[in-house]
Amino acid sequence: MQIPQMRPWLGEEEQLAAARAIADGWISEGPRAADFAAQLNSLIGVPYGVFAPNGTQALYLALLAAGIGPGDEVLVPDITFIASANAVVFAGATPVFVDVEPKTFQIDVAACATAITPRTKAVMPVHLFGLSPDMDSLLELAQAHGLLIIEDAAQAIGVAYRGRHAGCFGTLGCFSFFADKTITTGEGGYVVCQDAAIYERLRLLRNQGRINRGSFVHEIVGTNMRITDIQAAIGLVQLAKLAQIVARKRDILCWYSEGLDGLAGVRLITPPAHIAAVPFRAVLIVEDAPDLMRHLESRGVQPRAFFYPLHRQPCFAHLGRDRERVVCLDDAQYPHALYGAEHGVLLPAYPELRAHQVRYICAAVREFYTA
Ligand SMILES: *Cc1c(COP(=O)(O)O)cnc(C)c1O
Repeated sequence: MQIPQMRPWLGEEEQLAAARAIADGWISEGPRAADFAAQLNSLIGVPYGVFAPNGTQALYLALLAAGIGPGDEVLVPDITFIASANAVVFAGATPVFVDVEPKTFQIDVAACATAITPRTKAVMPVHLFGLSPDMDSLLELAQAHGLLIIEDAAQAIGVAYRGRHAGCFGTLGCFSFFADKTITTGEGGYVVCQDAAIYERLRLLRNQGRINRGSFVHEIVGTNMRITDIQAAIGLVQLAKLAQIVARKRDILCWYSEGLDGLAGVRLITPPAHIAAVPFRAVLIVEDAPDLMRHLESRGVQPRAFFYPLHRQPCFAHLGRDRERVVCLDDAQYPHALYGAEHGVLLPAYPELRAHQVRYICAAVREFYTA
């Protein structure tokens, strides 16, 4: 048996929808994008949203719209996809890495509190693995220190924290529709906000500094962050399948939970009761992660390691040497991120994964620990 880490769930409906957009001759951002945006806003529970070419650009656009730039520091969890921090750098600001909590490896709010300086302008909670950080405490902290919240909800479409959708807690929230996310348009991103002035700024920034196409008077310097209606057509079909995708992913997590129950040395991360999670992958915390991964590969299963801690990334090493803005890159500050990186293993949880395949994967894990 061969089981990949991820497979986008695309079929004839997506093919037909894309073909129809092409046949209509509306291939740039148009009526389908407007419809997709309206449906996303209603799902997320926000009045405003704009597309971006991908999740990374969505974060960059959000940071620009929030007015974050040179001299500003943004708190970013040490465990996340590197795009979270890269967007901060592209906006001209400095990412400051903070440790994650050891239970679900989301940004640690207590660690955020100790990392705040007079230059801290924002915090970027990441809804990692389709879970959520402790948003209640984070909101309290942000309010107490006057920080903006820019949410990286790239992995969190469909995720709710105490009944509120991820991405609607902060000033801005960002989503990705990359091929391995919960719903996909191939590439694609989305930025939501609740403030009319921020929305106006998002629209100006993403459309060359003008609100309406066809006008050649530009109020500010902007750029082009459009998507295509071909992508939006695919997105509409994917969104219509979201409830089914979510149900399947939750089933898959249950199957893993049953299959690994009672196995010593293996902890499956499961969502706390107040989070309606959408498993991005099945996340295991194990002894001998590299050896387990090799074993799974030998059985035809494709595992993934955790993200590598940002404070150890070669591309950010200069942040610890820059005399103007010294960022703490000491291993001692990031015990939980390091633990996760050493012990974390991601297993497939894509919508088409069947129960017998999850049983096969769990049997392979069991075989490794009991042989
Ligand atoms: C995927 C992802 C991004 C970036 O999205 P792209 O669409 O790939 O640019 C950012 N942050 C997190 C946590 C992600 O998983």
